[in-house]
Amino acid sequence: MRPASFDYVRPASVAEACEALTAGGTVLAGGQSLVPLLKLRIVRPTRIIDLNRIDELAGITTNEAEELFIGAMTRHQDIADHPLVQSKVPLLASAARHLGDIQVRARGTIGGNICFADPRANLATALIALDAVAVLIHTGGLRDCPVADMFTGFRQSSRRADELLIRLRIRHTPEHAQGVYLELAPQLNGTPIVNVAVVPGAPGREPRIAVGGLFDIPWRAVTIEELARTGRATEHRIREAIDEFQTDRLRFEDPRGDAAYRARIASVLIAQALERCTTGRGREAPAQEE
Ligand SMILES: Cc1cc2nc3c(=O)[nH]c(=O)nc-3n(C[C@H](O)[C@H](O)[C@H](O)COP(=O)(O)OP(=O)(O)OC[C@H]3O[C@@H](n4cnc5c(N)ncnc54)[C@H](O)[C@@H]3O)c2cc1C
Repeated sequence: MRPASFDYVRPASVAEACEALTAGGTVLAGGQSLVPLLKLRIVRPTRIIDLNRIDELAGITTNEAEELFIGAMTRHQDIADHPLVQSKVPLLASAARHLGDIQVRARGTIGGNICFADPRANLATALIALDAVAVLIHTGGLRDCPVADMFTGFRQSSRRADELLIRLRIRHTPEHAQGVYLELAPQLNGTPIVNVAVVPGAPGREPRIAVGGLFDIPWRAVTIEELARTGRATEHRIREAIDEFQTDRLRFEDPRGDAAYRARIASVLIAQALERCTTGRGREAPAQEE
């Protein structure tokens, strides 16, 4: 099927894109999630605002305060391959390496991964564990939003319709506490059923655990962080903590796995990730070609 007709604009700067958004429209980044929905006419925007010409939205930099900045239009493969990401937040490089296949990674962007708000999105789970902040802009100014707060429901974001995500801000992780990303994805190029990201505690930092694929939004697993802090994070206790939380939050289920299966997988992956953090097996070799 072909998309329904729409107007198309291709701004050359963030300022132009903001003006266009204020007038109304849907942003196009890498198109990996949006284009299939357009083709199936599940979404029918009247106007598409294509960000692909705005060079200032892509790129990776750092500063003296040990923060990494990743532009919203930075592609997944560039994140996986970038030396700054590999050395300062290797957990994120690992999550990007696991995402889809090379075609998807070459086009899809970190901004699209967050704004699409899928509860299993690789980079979202990693960024929540890394305590990353999304920087949004609109014609009136900038707004910082913790990535965890960008998710309000299944594929629903707290981003306002006139806001553009411009970059992600992430603190460098200490050398000895860089964390582990694990997922279960039966198809090599498919979205994971469940994914987990664990960042161990370090001086001045609490351990952080995020899980995707259990609920309608990615879950910051505070109760399991507490178990980890007190040395009680056995697979059994992790499973109990998930089951308790599952009574409060909308469970996510699809033909690939019901809530009980997802809880079982999540408890195994979290226990494995915590163990790898302890034994130092979290660090992976640099990305390899497929
Ligand atoms: C075959 C296949 C396999 C995939 N596998 C995985 C996987 O394993 N893991 C995974 O996490 N994802 C996976 N994806 C999803 C995809 O790769 C992207 O990560 C992401 O969901 C969309 O990014 P995009 O840049 O293509 O965004 P688009 O599709 O262009 O946009 C997605 C949504 O975000 C909005 N948006 C995009 N950028 C901005 C911005 N800067 N500001 C405001 N709004 C914005 C758009 O308006 C749209 O609503 C897969 C996709 C395909 C087709």
